[in-house]
Amino acid sequence: MSDEERSGRCTVITLGTCGGPKLRVDRTGVSTAIVVDDAVYIVDLGYGASRQLIAAGYDFSQVRGIFVTHLHSDHISDLANVLLYGWYQGLSESAKPVTMLGPGSRGALAPAHAFAQEPAIVNPEDPTPGFAESYRYLLQAHSTDINDRIRDNLRPHPDEVLTARNIEIPFQVGFDPDTNNAPEMEPFEIYADEHVRVFATLVEHSPMSPAFAFRFETASGSVVVSGDTGPCANLERLAAGVDVLVHEVIDEQWAERNYADKPEAERQAMMLHHLSAHTSIEEVGKIAQRASVGTLVLNHFVPGHLVPGRWHEAGLHFDGTLIVAQDLDRIDVDAGRSARV
Ligand SMILES: [Zn+2]
Repeated sequence: MSDEERSGRCTVITLGTCGGPKLRVDRTGVSTAIVVDDAVYIVDLGYGASRQLIAAGYDFSQVRGIFVTHLHSDHISDLANVLLYGWYQGLSESAKPVTMLGPGSRGALAPAHAFAQEPAIVNPEDPTPGFAESYRYLLQAHSTDINDRIRDNLRPHPDEVLTARNIEIPFQVGFDPDTNNAPEMEPFEIYADEHVRVFATLVEHSPMSPAFAFRFETASGSVVVSGDTGPCANLERLAAGVDVLVHEVIDEQWAERNYADKPEAERQAMMLHHLSAHTSIEEVGKIAQRASVGTLVLNHFVPGHLVPGRWHEAGLHFDGTLIVAQDLDRIDVDAGRSARV
């Protein structure tokens, strides 16, 4: 692309919009692309994200950065496909390895309050690997294939096309995965190139921790992707005045119905979890309103099967433009900015 063609135009594409580890045919796993000119940045890799990138008209030669909010499977399960298919579909055309950033280890398992005795776990010698370590495990798991293709198909070593790093949380914020998982903090920069500056903040998704939200600053506007979070001050600070806020949402009425048959203590515990670790339809509109967001884009729908009408109730609390996203929606960030003024 020549300098004349380089406009800084920024578009958000909802590659996948389904929340939770459920396979659906009408929504793929959660993933969002932020495209600046021809450079693609991806937040989260729910199942099908790689295929959706191709369906949106891009390939991996255009991917400049991948940002993972947290290590729940519905945000990371397509990482294997980025590696194993992206390798053949553009990644090896990149001049340098594509940067991938995600959370480090929480350090230890979260307390298992619900159990009289500790349940059996997997990988007990390393039960909470961070993003970079999880990626190394993935390389190990696929080493028969990878080594075969290096030697038989002359593929470059994966380290030449992808590099995975953990996001380092500023020491002074006092983060603790169990007792202080989203301390109030200023957003901090984690990535920059000629198209974007990317900032992170800690959000509330206990017991999964750390969990991040990201803000992208581009020449033509700003975008925040919430990841999974309950209402929290850090998210509102990160989203203040943003042109486009892509935010998760849960239907609290569905959650009530879902757990209605459970014993009262279990029902209350599950509701508390859902509404502290996720954001209800009512709350998400209020958050966008308080943060003076231009366009609110709902994604990561829990449950994934509800008709759009229910989700539109978020607009009762929000004066800006509300988009109840489907997979592969495109949102022009310039338009998102003008939506509020
Ligand atoms: Zn999650």
